[in-house]
Amino acid sequence: IIEVDGLTKSYGTLEVLKKMTFDVHKNDVVAVIGPSGSGKSTMLRSLVHLEEINGGSIRVSGEYLVQNGLYSKPGEIKRITSKMGMVFQHFNLFPHLTVKENLELAPKVVKGETGAEISRRSAELLEKVGLGGRASEYPSRLSGGQKQRVAIARALMMNPDILLFDEPTSALDPELTGEVLQVMKKLAEEHMTMIVVTHEMGFAREVANRVMFMDHGEIIESGHPEQLFTNPQFDRTKAFLNRSF
Ligand code: ATP
Ligand code: MG
Repeated sequence: IIEVDGLTKSYGTLEVLKKMTFDVHKNDVVAVIGPSGSGKSTMLRSLVHLEEINGGSIRVSGEYLVQNGLYSKPGEIKRITSKMGMVFQHFNLFPHLTVKENLELAPKVVKGETGAEISRRSAELLEKVGLGGRASEYPSRLSGGQKQRVAIARALMMNPDILLFDEPTSALDPELTGEVLQVMKKLAEEHMTMIVVTHEMGFAREVANRVMFMDHGEIIESGHPEQLFTNPQFDRTKAFLNRSF
């Protein structure tokens, strides 16, 4: 679904992503781990064009968002990025909109679906994340875990080919992370394709079929969780894993 080839990204003279190359296939759940500042967020933000990259290619469901550093036309970029749903650490819900309005905004603006179809879908997705009945609530009245589940439902509204998560539970109190991870686990079981930047090693181990370890803007190693966690091949991976347990 996603093919990244030689992705390079700099801020001024600081090279944050160094020729990253990786693929994400349909039904993959890829956990991305790595130290603070290693470029995990920048990588996700580049995929959805919240950052412009300096070189390399990104292909989504067979279409180039950017090919050898050259971006597609704005209309195409919009269409291609709308195949990806993003869930942020800090939810990024619209505070002045209700839960239902948060879910329905993007589809109403972007898609030619009818109001009734959109309504049906938002109700169904709220039910799915365990928030049926909270549709007319404002985000400020919800817990962090509930807000994040709304954000996941909102991302699903556009029927994305892939969901990207950037530390979805890092801003939550420990007792609220479980309910969010549970929803993500359910999505994985339903074969949603996902990239999850996370510090939750338990989740990575249990749910991901691949773990990618990043350091200083490079993929140091990538493999099946069992293999990477129990038998890491590189000293940098070992050092990182030893530090986080
Ligand atoms: P964390 O685990 O703390 O979220 P990360 O792996 O997500 O870290 P990034 O946020 O991608 O790391 O940052 C990678 C590098 O890019 C860091 O050195 C950071 O300081 C730098 N950086 C990120 N955003 C910008 C920006 N807008 N301008 C300049 N430098 C930036
Ligand atoms: Mg980050």
